[in-house]
Amino acid sequence: MPERKNDIKPVIGLEIHVELLTETKAFCSCPASFGGEPNTNTCPVCRGEPGALPVLNRHAVELAVMAGLALGCSIHEISAFDRKNYYYPDLPKGYQITQYFHPVCTGGAVPITLPDGRQKKIGLERIHIEEDAGKLTHRGDETLVDYNRAGVPLIEIVSLPEIESAEEAKAYVESIRRILSFIGVSDCKMNEGSMRADVNVSVIVDGDHGERSEIKNVNSINYIGKAVEYEIKRQSEMLLSGERPRRETRRYNEDKSTTEHIRYKEETVDYRYFPEPNIPQIRLTGEDIDHIRGNMRIMPEEAERYIEEKFGFSEYAARRLTSSYEIYEYFLEAAGMSEYPNHTANLIIGEIITKTEKPREYLAPSKTAAISDMFGRYEITSVSAKKLVSICSVTGESPVSVAEKEKMMMLTDPDTLKNMVEEAVKESPKSIEDYIKGKDTALKQIMGVVMRKSGGRAEPRKTMAILEEYAGKLRNGAK
Ligand code: ADP
Ligand code: MG
Ligand code: ZN
Repeated sequence: MPERKNDIKPVIGLEIHVELLTETKAFCSCPASFGGEPNTNTCPVCRGEPGALPVLNRHAVELAVMAGLALGCSIHEISAFDRKNYYYPDLPKGYQITQYFHPVCTGGAVPITLPDGRQKKIGLERIHIEEDAGKLTHRGDETLVDYNRAGVPLIEIVSLPEIESAEEAKAYVESIRRILSFIGVSDCKMNEGSMRADVNVSVIVDGDHGERSEIKNVNSINYIGKAVEYEIKRQSEMLLSGERPRRETRRYNEDKSTTEHIRYKEETVDYRYFPEPNIPQIRLTGEDIDHIRGNMRIMPEEAERYIEEKFGFSEYAARRLTSSYEIYEYFLEAAGMSEYPNHTANLIIGEIITKTEKPREYLAPSKTAAISDMFGRYEITSVSAKKLVSICSVTGESPVSVAEKEKMMMLTDPDTLKNMVEEAVKESPKSIEDYIKGKDTALKQIMGVVMRKSGGRAEPRKTMAILEEYAGKLRNGAK
């Protein structure tokens, strides 16, 4: 009997499906948009009617190549489609068009950063293009089917089994989500099903390799973490008690945070893959690939570094300002029009992206810049700046005219402030006498008088400076 140290080593590999952000489906011209009345975005091709022929969507290939370039894969000059045959009601043709023998990308790696700051790379086996299936809704004894999603182009990103914990699995998915959504390959909305993962988990206990289970279609990063934890525990308990896990397919149960058996691997169908005869090979020249590379957006990590270096912002701020490409672009434009990019950043982080994913539709960048500048010049308070963001986002008015109309503009004119200070000093004989005798804090009372006279609109820093100078002269003159 080998010595038992109860040393548990998880082995995890993920297959991530990501819907590509094309206007139309992979092999027909139906809209690829999410939702819509069930079965309205369909045609004979994506309904799988006899005789209908698929025509490959060029943009889907370009997006798949972009994903591959972003993740450091080798892009193959020749790739091809195959048929994966199985019968299920969500698949009208009775087969799925996928890339089995010759995927468009192989190799590559995904950089991940763990909560403790540790960094690691997870290797990729391949990225291939395929079509999505329809959506089934089970209702009592009935099953409803919606083919709007059937034929929407996907990429499947298959990792090597190099992930070693639930934390790493979550960081891996988060990293892919950040990169692919930033560069516009996919919107990666797990709640709308445009990004989902099959999670493969096995454990090695004291050097004894178990068997892996595959948890199908997990649709949140949090659930992926929980599914991995549950499987590690379940399989290691089996191995420790002398039982052997079997190769199986499972599903995640959100209510119980557990996984449940669906079928054992030996029960699965043989997909009888063969080359898809109706679609020519994809041929990409080096020039085609360079062209696609040339049209790619900046990578999110680079965008983050750029903001840190150009504006001297913290990593936190740079991260928030690159949480999507739309936000990044919006920030650059607004900051470019403002003398106070740090205030622009604070407004965007604190007041704009907390309310919308589409900052440009919420408030024009020029307006954000104008509000930043008024605040930067001490013309308005920070409370007013925040109010202006929400007022102008609704009414579309110019921030300056709203600030004037709403009496938000602080008094900053030196002559006006000086007059007020002089009057306030006259009205506060006791305080100024105290100040002249050396009680510095007596100026506070005089400031209070200026504030009252100005209806709270005297800009405090400038007013205080003027008051200190004026009262200082009186004090020196009295010596
Ligand atoms: P399948 O055909 O069953 O989907 P693949 O070989 O394509 O199998 O692998 C699918 C996924 O399983 C990959 O992401 C891979 O990293 C992962 N995987 C492979 N071996 C293991 C293992 N021993 N434990 C956990 N995951 C694994
Ligand atoms: Mg699989
Ligand atoms: Zn169609």
